[in-house]
Amino acid sequence: MALQPTQAPSPKGYEVGTAAGDSFSAKKLLFATGVTDQMYNIQGFADCWGITALHCPYCHGYEIRNKAIGVMANGDLAYELCKLHSNWTKKLMLFTNGKSTLNKAQTDALYNNNIAIIETEISAIAHTNGYMQHIELADGSIQKVDALYSKIAFKQHCELPEQLGCSLDEYGYIAIDVFQKTTVNGIYAAGDNTTMFRSVAFSIAAGNKAGAVINKELIDDAWA
Ligand SMILES: Cc1cc2nc3c(=O)[nH]c(=O)nc-3n(C[C@H](O)[C@H](O)[C@H](O)COP(=O)(O)OP(=O)(O)OC[C@H]3O[C@@H](n4cnc5c(N)ncnc54)[C@H](O)[C@@H]3O)c2cc1C
Repeated sequence: MALQPTQAPSPKGYEVGTAAGDSFSAKKLLFATGVTDQMYNIQGFADCWGITALHCPYCHGYEIRNKAIGVMANGDLAYELCKLHSNWTKKLMLFTNGKSTLNKAQTDALYNNNIAIIETEISAIAHTNGYMQHIELADGSIQKVDALYSKIAFKQHCELPEQLGCSLDEYGYIAIDVFQKTTVNGIYAAGDNTTMFRSVAFSIAAGNKAGAVINKELIDDAWA
């Protein structure tokens, strides 16, 4: 079911139509529509996504502790990610996927922590049903890794908040205040579409808060 706006917001609220042809009206709207991750154009990456091509050590770190882990990133981000993931394994290597942009101090620190820096571009990820076997590099060599972390681009899953005038922040999340209110009166957002701290617990808590705030405002609006 995909939400489609059937008419512009009026003082009474919003008319919302679904792709299935249903429609209903609402004085307030809460978007809990998540984000869509944008896969790297590397053969095998999308197949491994969420299994061994990973983004979050707080979600997956324990499952792959002590395994051979790669980090695909460059520059300051690469340095920070290597530090973060070093907490989970001593078999860590960095794939800068092109010439390294780490500074000398960062490079020295990685070598001092036995983290190899591989600059050769990644050409493919060999896997079995999403379980990584090795990484293939552009020079024909291979590197054995069990999992590869990277920061992945995303876009809003649903464009309706923007179409209704809600502002996004500099990172592409829906801008909200502490009460989950967007920049448009009567429209709220909660969950992954609003924050880089993406987790089930965080999303549920945000939805909980939005529900309470919306309920309070509906009562206030109806109070004679
Ligand atoms: C690979 C991976 C592993 C993760 N592992 C963990 C983990 O171990 N622990 C953890 O806490 N978190 C984990 N997360 C994060 C967690 O999945 C999210 O934080 C959480 O699902 C966000 O919930 P949400 O409701 O905000 O968004 P979503 O779960 O993305 O739900 C949004 C829903 O809105 C629907 N939608 C969007 N647009 C429309 C529309 N126009 N009409 C109708 N429906 C629409 C979507 O189809 C979707 O069903 C992981 C994420 C990924 C990608």
